[in-house]
Amino acid sequence: MFETLSNRLNGVFDRLRRRGALREEDVAEALREVRVALLEADVALSVVKDLTTKVRERAVGQEVLRSVSPAQQVIKIVNDVLVEALGGGEGDTGIRGIDLNAPSPVAILMVGLQGSGKTTTTGKIALRLRDKQRKKVLVASLDTQRPAAQRQLAVLAEQAGVVSLAIVPGEGPLAIAARAMDEARRGYFDVVILDTAGRLSIDEELMAEVAAVKFATNPHETLLVVDAMTGQDAVQTARAFNERLAVTGIVMTRVDGDARGGAALSMRAVTGAPIKLLGAGEKLDALEEFHPDRIASRILG
Ligand code: GDP
Repeated sequence: MFETLSNRLNGVFDRLRRRGALREEDVAEALREVRVALLEADVALSVVKDLTTKVRERAVGQEVLRSVSPAQQVIKIVNDVLVEALGGGEGDTGIRGIDLNAPSPVAILMVGLQGSGKTTTTGKIALRLRDKQRKKVLVASLDTQRPAAQRQLAVLAEQAGVVSLAIVPGEGPLAIAARAMDEARRGYFDVVILDTAGRLSIDEELMAEVAAVKFATNPHETLLVVDAMTGQDAVQTARAFNERLAVTGIVMTRVDGDARGGAALSMRAVTGAPIKLLGAGEKLDALEEFHPDRIASRILG
C-alpha cells in the first residue's frame, strides 16, 4: 500500500552517497521520510516529533558501518527507538499480559468506546484465563444501555466455558457490579471480569458511570480496549479514558485488519500504560500477546 521506509531511505542515501559519519544534513533528510512513514502508520503528530528527535540524537555523528547500508543503519535506530517507546525490555521485569497478583476474586474492569471490541475481548480473556491459567472466571455485563449487550456476553461466556452473572432486568450498572463481586466471593471465583457500557464517543455521563463502578469495585486491572483501525482518534480516546479512569493496560483490537498499528505507539506515549494484548479476529481464541518488535516492524512496513 505504502512505499516501505527501507525503500525510501535507500533513495535518500543513494542520492547522497556519502562516507564516514552520518552527517546532520543526511540524517535530516532521512528523518523527513521517517516522519512520513510514522504518520502514514497512524502515529499521532506529537508522538512522531518525540520519536524523530530521539532518532536524530542517536544517528547524527554515528560512524557509517561497512557491513550495512546507511539506510539500514538508520532503520535499525528507528526500530530500536520504536521498540523502546512501545515498552520493549519491559518483559524482563514487568508483567506481560494480565496481572492477577492480588487476593481473589481479582476484578478486571473492561472500558472503551462502543464497537471497540470490549465484549468480544472480555470473552477472549475469560477463555484464556480458564484454559491456559486454570482460573475460575465470572463475567458480568454492566451494559444496561443496549439490551443485546448483556445477552451477547452470556453467549460468549458459554462458548468460553465460564460463568456469566445472571441477568436481572432493570438493574443498574453499580448494582450489577456489586452483585458480581458478591457472587465471585461467595462462589470462590479467582477472577471477575466486568464489561462496562460504551458510547460511540467519549461523554461525561459514560465516564462518570464507569468511574463510579471503578470506585465501588476497586479493580486490579482497568483495561482499555481500542480499535487499531481508529488510527489518529485512538490517541484522544486513550487520553480521555486514562485521565478519568487511570488505565492499567491497553488491548488493541482488529490488528487482523490492515491498520499499521501506529495507534499503539500513540496510546502508550499518552497514557504510559502498557499494551498488554492484541485482538486479531472475531473468534474467541484470536487474542495475542503483545510483542513490541513485531508492532515496530509492522509500523515501519
Ligand atoms: P463492544 O461494543 O466494544 O463490546 O464491541 P464488540 O465486542 O461487540 O465488537 C464489535 C464487533 O467487532 C463485533 O462484530 C466483533 O466480532 C468485532 N471484533 C471484536 N474484536 C475484533 C478483532 O480483534 N478483530 C476483528 N476483525 N473483529 C473484532
